[in-house]
Amino acid sequence: MKIGVLALQGDFAEHLVILKRLGVEAVEVRLPEHLKSLDGLIMPGGESTTIGKLATDFGLIEPLRAFGKSHAIWGTCAGAIFLSRDVSRNQPLLNLMDIKVARNAFGRQVDSFEAELDVPELKKATGTDGLFHAVFIRAPIIESVYGDAKILASVSDGRIVAAQQGHLLATSFHPELTNDTRFHEYFLSLAD
Ligand code: GLN
Repeated sequence: MKIGVLALQGDFAEHLVILKRLGVEAVEVRLPEHLKSLDGLIMPGGESTTIGKLATDFGLIEPLRAFGKSHAIWGTCAGAIFLSRDVSRNQPLLNLMDIKVARNAFGRQVDSFEAELDVPELKKATGTDGLFHAVFIRAPIIESVYGDAKILASVSDGRIVAAQQGHLLATSFHPELTNDTRFHEYFLSLAD
């Protein structure tokens, strides 16, 4: 299996480390031709406006949309924003996933936090039982899911922080910043 990580801006290096640890061939994606022969793509956290702007400059918007129609894509944090259809403001989006997202919805950088999440789908897929320790850094929330998208996890007040639509996955938090590889394993099962 070969997985690409969008490497325009943000914490793509951490995703590459985890994928390699899981024994997967992992490559950086910066240009449309880098998408060839990939089984899936991870779009990292960072700054979604910057990622969208650079993706536009590098001619990646349409190739990424086409890729996502038939391949697995996982967006973490800024990557989830970029994957969404609606962010209530004008910035480049892939418009692939039926989720409405609100940026910086938990507050500013100083309001970053960590939480234990119950993710039934993840437990089922990986045959494990533990909660998932999630790191939120100036994170978005998923305001609503519609169409074929479904909720995978919420924080204790009910705000949605993970969703899935077929082979598309969105998380508000950063599994690449912990040692728990279960979300990466789950994504690989979608890319398979
Ligand atoms: N606040 C960033 C944005 O709106 C996302 C932060 C992150 O990826 N950790 O794009």
